[in-house]
Amino acid sequence: MRIDKINKIFQKLEKHIPSPKTELKYKNPFTFLISVVLSAQSTDKSVNSATKELFKIARKPEAMISLGEKKLKNYIKTIGLYNSKAKNIINLSKIINEKFNGKVPNDFKDLTNLPGVGNKTASVYQNEILKIPRIAVDTHVFRVSNRIGLVKTKNPDDTQKELESIIPKKWLKSAHHLLILHGRYTCKSQNPLCEGCAVNKLCKYIKSEKDKKNISSKQK
Ligand code: SF4
Repeated sequence: MRIDKINKIFQKLEKHIPSPKTELKYKNPFTFLISVVLSAQSTDKSVNSATKELFKIARKPEAMISLGEKKLKNYIKTIGLYNSKAKNIINLSKIINEKFNGKVPNDFKDLTNLPGVGNKTASVYQNEILKIPRIAVDTHVFRVSNRIGLVKTKNPDDTQKELESIIPKKWLKSAHHLLILHGRYTCKSQNPLCEGCAVNKLCKYIKSEKDKKNISSKQK
């Protein structure tokens, strides 16, 4: 896609979503990391509702370790995969405490070596806390960027590489949130709201849908 078109897409998205930021509620870098770990295959809303009470008593690795896996499960049992997430959270808290003096490491490799922290979680963390312009690719970013035609990819890792190479620097920090929020509220997985969409004149998906309709009406 041409650079001027990419710029136009992000200008329009930014106008539509003026303060693109995470919807996860957190108190410090550690609680943000915990929220992102919990958010895998769960909604931000359900994570926020569970962490509201959890973060009152466990905002630091030491407190999380003291709470223990069993009690932690009581706080997060409304969230999908809570058994494995509880185990990972206790183990990553121990590593952060012992190896990094209680502070979440900044290095990408150190982050992805923590239990339950993959590329996506580490990228979200670096983007939000360290302001590093990374585009973490979740289900929304993957769907939206392929539908619009920013990329043509088959998996999140390729999508991230491609987006980070084609999107102009000035959008890299906000692109992740713009694409997520656009996917969550407008370009939904089922029934995207194309009619009122800010980028519908630039979108590959809507063009191909229109083309399909034109072909089928000509065939009638
Ligand atoms: S026009 Fe439709 S498919 Fe394209 S980005 Fe907008 S909502 Fe998504």
